[in-house]
Amino acid sequence: MAKYQYQTEVGQLLNLMAHSLYSNKEIFLRELISNANDALDKFNYLHLTDEKFKNEDWSPEINIKLDKEDNSIAVSDNGIGMNEEDLIQNLGTIAKSGTKAFLEELAKNKDKKIDSNLIGQFGVGFYSVFMVADVVEVITKKAGEDKAYKFISDGSGEFEVKEVIKDSHGTVVYLKLKEDAKEFLEPNRIKEIVKKYSNHIPYKIYLNYKEEIEEDGKKKIENKKELINEATALWALPKGEIKDEEYIEFYKTTWGDFEEPLTWIHTIAEGSLEYKTLFYIPKHAPADIYRADFKPGVKLYVKRVFITDNEKELLPLYLRFVRGIIDSEDLPLNISREMLQENRILANIKQASVKKILNHIKRLDKEKFDIFIKEYNKLIKEGIYTDLTNKELLLEIVRYKSSAVEGLTSLDEYIEREKDKENRKKEIYYIIGDDENILRHSPLLEPYKKNNLEVLIMDDKEIDEIVAPSITEYKGWKFVDISMVEPPKTKEDEKELETLEKEYKELTIKIKDILGENVKDVKVTNRLEESPSCVVPDSSDPMVSMRHMFKMMGQEEPELPLILELNAKHPLIKKLKESKDEEFIKDSAYILLDSAKLAEGLEVKDKVEFSKRVTKLLNRAL
Ligand code: ADP
Repeated sequence: MAKYQYQTEVGQLLNLMAHSLYSNKEIFLRELISNANDALDKFNYLHLTDEKFKNEDWSPEINIKLDKEDNSIAVSDNGIGMNEEDLIQNLGTIAKSGTKAFLEELAKNKDKKIDSNLIGQFGVGFYSVFMVADVVEVITKKAGEDKAYKFISDGSGEFEVKEVIKDSHGTVVYLKLKEDAKEFLEPNRIKEIVKKYSNHIPYKIYLNYKEEIEEDGKKKIENKKELINEATALWALPKGEIKDEEYIEFYKTTWGDFEEPLTWIHTIAEGSLEYKTLFYIPKHAPADIYRADFKPGVKLYVKRVFITDNEKELLPLYLRFVRGIIDSEDLPLNISREMLQENRILANIKQASVKKILNHIKRLDKEKFDIFIKEYNKLIKEGIYTDLTNKELLLEIVRYKSSAVEGLTSLDEYIEREKDKENRKKEIYYIIGDDENILRHSPLLEPYKKNNLEVLIMDDKEIDEIVAPSITEYKGWKFVDISMVEPPKTKEDEKELETLEKEYKELTIKIKDILGENVKDVKVTNRLEESPSCVVPDSSDPMVSMRHMFKMMGQEEPELPLILELNAKHPLIKKLKESKDEEFIKDSAYILLDSAKLAEGLEVKDKVEFSKRVTKLLNRAL
């Protein structure tokens, strides 16, 4: 016998479970059945494909045994089982990235009860047994191995593992129930829970219990074994036969979410390619989707036999929040992982599935669609950049902030608002940065506002900077980054500018001299309204169009050659033109450059110098 210390995080989690105020304790059974289901899936596959197991006389089942005298409940399966190492790894440590995040989240709001959403988002699986049990024993034997083991834990900091005798492969989870968990000894209560959560897992679940009956006036104890679920794979049933609750509970059981899904898409394809798919979109983005080690959400089956749940690209990566099942009639059962990636049939199913999912999303009602966007807009952007085949569909779904509306807008709505404006070029304007407020007040936006042109506000710089330039156009409308182009001008504007350029020639040359290498050029402008100055990248410089490339290659963005533009109509600039005070002009030149950079969310190199100059000017003003 060996004693082990739980990994610290597991210890914390057990403690939490044992003292949890969470009322929905019945879900421990769902978690155990879900694990048994997975174990049966894995052995089912071996039984069909592996010479070693092919001849075994095996029929998969899950048994729940209630024992009132012993105050215990046991859930057993004849699935794949675990060896000593599996036991310690799977039940003694936290392999799942989500659980760690879950604990960190909890640590942040200590007094909060564990609410169901929080648990649901992270899925604590097996450890939920400690909500109902004082002592847990797991007796298990791995298929194809000789030795069997028993894991014992009372939910404190330690657990034991020892060798035991067990005839056949599979696992028994034995729970000694807590005082306040006696309800789970009642057969009807168990039947109700199983019906609710596990009616349509593809394996049979039996309930074993003792019942007192009267026969010929004598009391007798009878052993009962009842089948308590339908045991038909839900996704293989005709759509018309499935109730919404059944879809929902199947989702919760299979993917361990405590929340209802946002929506689901069930397809039964017949014809040249035969397959069934059932996809779900969770209401909340799974906790690990922005981690490299995220757990794939789609399981592959062939003719109802589980093949793998560990293949990340059954759907494109940007759809990694989708949970679901792909069940093909045409793939061979012994398909290997390498073959999966190149398989034509699977590629076709994948392609059709993506279209189906995206079209379904597009047609969600407003309430659901808004939730979808809140959770997944970023991933849709990722798709725009990576999935060229479905770019148009994705562009119909994606939402952006805009200078013209509150909240979010679609590109179609943008076009609808803009298309009838006189002389309107077919261009969709956008500006990128990471602060919505700065972007909305950016001097670059002023000429567009002045000309009544809508600009999309893209404030998720990290991703927008890569995705937006890759869009290039949508339904005939060109995508234009307003920091890269000359601002809109009317004929009158141009005329006026010519005069202004002459008028301000002396000043612009002087300021260019002062700023030297800090700017590429200094110009006067009539495009600004409120700001005295702005900076724009020199669009003739090849560096400018290449900067996104640097970003995409994960390299530091090069510093751009900037042009400083002075607002000819601003009183400050007018004054500057008249001034003879060289010192004042010099300080103003630097301040105009740096404050323009700040207003556009750019970095100012020498912040100390900047603030010194501002103070100096303020002093003068007094
Ligand atoms: P999850 O099921 O989400 O992975 P759990 O905490 O429920 O997390 O279980 C941890 C792991 O323990 C499982 O992934 C599985 O490898 C193993 N396990 C649990 N129950 C069984 C079982 N009945 N048979 C075989 N392995 C099991």
